[in-house]
Amino acid sequence: MSETGISRAEAVHLFRRRELVPLSTEARRISTEVFGNDVYLRGLIEYTNHCAVDCLYCGIRRSNFNVKRYRLGEKEIIDAVTQGYERGIRTFVLQGGEDAWFTTERLVDICRSIKEVGDAALTLSCGIRPRRDYGLLKKAGADRYLMRFETSDPELHRYIRGGVSLEKRLAALSDLQAEGFQVGSGFMVGLPGESDDTLIRNVEICAELGVDMAGVGPFIPHPETPMGESEQVPLERALYATALLRIFCQQTHIPATTAAGSLEKDGRERMISCGANVLMPNLTPVGQKKNYLLYPGKICLDESGLQCVGCLSMRVLSVDREISFDRADGRVGGRAGVSQAVSL
Ligand code: SAH
Ligand code: SF4
Repeated sequence: MSETGISRAEAVHLFRRRELVPLSTEARRISTEVFGNDVYLRGLIEYTNHCAVDCLYCGIRRSNFNVKRYRLGEKEIIDAVTQGYERGIRTFVLQGGEDAWFTTERLVDICRSIKEVGDAALTLSCGIRPRRDYGLLKKAGADRYLMRFETSDPELHRYIRGGVSLEKRLAALSDLQAEGFQVGSGFMVGLPGESDDTLIRNVEICAELGVDMAGVGPFIPHPETPMGESEQVPLERALYATALLRIFCQQTHIPATTAAGSLEKDGRERMISCGANVLMPNLTPVGQKKNYLLYPGKICLDESGLQCVGCLSMRVLSVDREISFDRADGRVGGRAGVSQAVSL
């Protein structure tokens, strides 16, 4: 429990009673205490939409034959990083499907080249790999790894992730931590069959894992997937999850996710008002953005990443926050420096 705030148990109670105002007020208070008014930017580069996995919810799953598949070349990746770096961004996230073409050797080369662009943090988000690979990627300069566990319900997890168990996903997260990565995780909200208990357990797992970043994405059914007919759960449920996360994981970075902004125009601002402190402008080359459709209605497909930065600066002002270009390492706690920095 925070010194002046409400306890975890009280927060859970408020969620069960659907009282968002006291929850979001407390979440905002904590976020301001830890990070000031800063909202950190992470530049996202979606480097491949090839994926060997068949998650039932995902628009780029292996069995969606309508997807125009692409892979960015090393030069395209470095160009995207360089443009972002020149605009001031100091954290880059390489995200993609589980694509065997990007062998560890290739990724190692890419990591090294990115680190030569300048002093910036590098996050990878490319799914489960053998533990040995994580070590090699870390040595090549990757600092952080992002991998959501998606849901804490083991049966639901196995079902929606094409047979991959929750246990395997959580083991991968602990391997990443053991290899010295700052680890980001998180979950989707509004999956069919997800109970309040599941959502609460999702938040608890983030706290137990002690992740450096935790993201909440509203599940948005994609018509070209087996879950395309599922009901769209309103954004509000993801806002509850964000506020709970902030109360449970006070010094953890929490992104205001693109999925929230895709579901509702002001979805990301509302997530910031519920304690989120990170935004992820999309630096993927404009020509390919439309082919990385994990869910329909994704925003910012026609804007360059640099236009995104301008737009995001305006948006955060509307919720009394300001953009920060700080690389904001895990649990440094922003300006307040509440706990020890993970030094890199
Ligand atoms: N292949 C990697 C990274 C790419 S997927 C991985 O799976 O970890 C990145 C995230 O997109 C997933 O973690 C999932 O939470 C989210 N996502 C996929 N499909 C979605 C959908 N239909 N609605 C909302 N979020 C989705
Ligand atoms: Fe592949 Fe990730 Fe989509 Fe699953 S969620 S199909 S692993 S890109």
